[in-house]
Amino acid sequence: MTTTKRAAPIRTCLGCRRRRPKAEMRRLVRAADGRVSVDERAPGRGAYVCCGPECLERALKPGRLAHAFRRPSEAERELIETVVSEK
Ligand SMILES: [Zn+2]
Repeated sequence: MTTTKRAAPIRTCLGCRRRRPKAEMRRLVRAADGRVSVDERAPGRGAYVCCGPECLERALKPGRLAHAFRRPSEAERELIETVVSEK
């Protein structure tokens, strides 16, 4: 008998660069206007962060986001509070 064991998807945190199971992370998505928000299902290129506030602080710097999305991107300041409180 074979049990189908699916490896959990692993993503790299944009803040701390640690690799973790995707299920433990928040997905960031860049809208066409450059605004970055947290959305688990939105289409398009996503970036991932773990839920720690320090990671978010680091990950949401414009430079980091621009690098992750390969375009100028910015996150609203409230995004951090949203993600942290949602956890
Ligand atoms: Zn992290």
